[in-house]
Order: sequence, then C-alpha cells, then structure tokens
Amino acid sequence: MSRRRQIYEGKAKVLFEGPEPGTLVQYFKDDATAYNNRKRGTITGKGVLNNRISEYLMTRLGEIGIPTHFLRRLNMREQLIKEVEIIPVEVVVRNVAAGSFSNRLGVPEGSALPRSIVEHFYKSDELDDPLVAEEHITAFGWATPQEMDEILSMSLRVNDFLTGLFFGLGIRLIDFKLEFGRLYEGEDMRIVLADEISPDNCRLWDVKTNEKMDKDRFRRDLDRGEEAYQEVARRLGILPESGPRDLKGPETMQ
Ligand code: C5P
Repeated sequence: MSRRRQIYEGKAKVLFEGPEPGTLVQYFKDDATAYNNRKRGTITGKGVLNNRISEYLMTRLGEIGIPTHFLRRLNMREQLIKEVEIIPVEVVVRNVAAGSFSNRLGVPEGSALPRSIVEHFYKSDELDDPLVAEEHITAFGWATPQEMDEILSMSLRVNDFLTGLFFGLGIRLIDFKLEFGRLYEGEDMRIVLADEISPDNCRLWDVKTNEKMDKDRFRRDLDRGEEAYQEVARRLGILPESGPRDLKGPETMQ
C-alpha cells in the first residue's frame, strides 16, 4: 500500500496511482463516518465487503450497458478503476422517504413515494453537501445541461435495475447515492458511473422485517451494523472466497 503514490484520501476510501496511465487503485477502508465526519468509527471488515459488493453491482450494471469506472478487483480491499474527472454533484435517487428527505419535508420515514425522486447535492465538506437544483449545477458549470440529462437517465436505469435485483433478494432499495465522472479517451469524453455502490451509500431494508441493512445502523447507533453488511453480501452470493473467515470481527468501535 505504501509503495504507490497516494492521489487522494477520502472518508472511506483511498485512491492510489494505478499500474497503467489512466488507471487508479481504489482501496476500501473500514473507517465509517457520518454527519459529515461528526461521527466517526470503524466497522471491521466493511472495506472488504464493500469492495466485493461494489465490484458485483458495478459489473452487473456494466452488463446492462451502464458505463462505469470499474475495471477489476485486485485483492480483498482494492480494485482497479479508470481515472475520471469527478463531477462535484452527488445524485440521490429515492423510492421511499427516509433520512434527510423525511427531516426536510416532514414525510414519515418509510412512506413510499408516488414516483422516484432524484435530488442533487453539491459535494462540499465545508458547506455540508447542500441540496442544489440543476440551475445551480449548470449556472456554476459543475456539469452541462447535456451531462445532467445523461446523468438523470443513467441514474433512473440504475434505480430500476438495482430495485429489481435487491427485491429478488428480499431487500427494498429505499434510496442511494451515485457519483459520476468524465472519462477522457482521446478526443472523446463520456460520462461514467464512479465511486462505489455499497451499503455505505444505499439504504437497504429487509422486505419482511423492515430491518435496516446499511450504514444507518452505524449512523443511528443500532447494534449488529457489521452483520448487516455481511448479510447483504451473503444474499448477493458473494461472501469472500474463504467465507466469513476472511473477515475479522464482526465488531464495531466508536
Ligand atoms: O442522508 P440522506 O437521506 O440525504 O441520504 C440519502 C442516501 O444517500 C442514503 O442512501 C445515504 O446513504 C446516501 N448518502 C451518501 N453520501 C452522502 C449523503 C448521502 O452515500 N454524503
């Protein structure tokens, strides 16, 4: 890990220079943060699970024609990705009211929305990732109207596909956050899905019990947070090669 040049360190991941130009290595940490770093902790084994879960979901999405930054998984905690220029906008797709949406609009958590709602947040730790409209995004040049059209249509396709995939595993996809980047290939540029898709950035509830199987267990001080990530991986059929023995834990430290 120390041999490579570190490009960026985020809250849950580190990016290193990749083996070939135009590639990066994405390393998944066990660190968990919430409320813009005001709550910090560790979920042992989370990085290993998120690496696999994100590999699996990005691969499935690639198969239905959604372009992604994912190239291949390298080892337990690392994956090789294409280097992209990240668009500084978090795209949140919601099917059921929860979290900041419920707080902001007074809609009880768990209410099904009449249709999927897409929201945008400006990526800025200093400003606490404020909710913004497409007007702000295009006026400030964070993305063009054409890019936003593409991002919206990809986000809705991702939502349809993941909703069905998770429902088949007895999981309701409540909401999730996506990030997109610009991939430059010679003269061409295209928008691709970037970052990760995992229980760190999705709300996943068990269909039968409504039990939360995502980072809300950590955010809201619920017990068995680590087991929730493991259960999502188990239902996807992708627990690490040698089973849970590959993972330390489960335990949560705060
Ligand atoms: O907090 P909020 O209700 O806006 O979160 C909506 C969805 O986006 C949740 O699935 C949450 O995990 C995800 N999210 C994220 N990163 C953020 C904010 C939200 O992954 N910075």
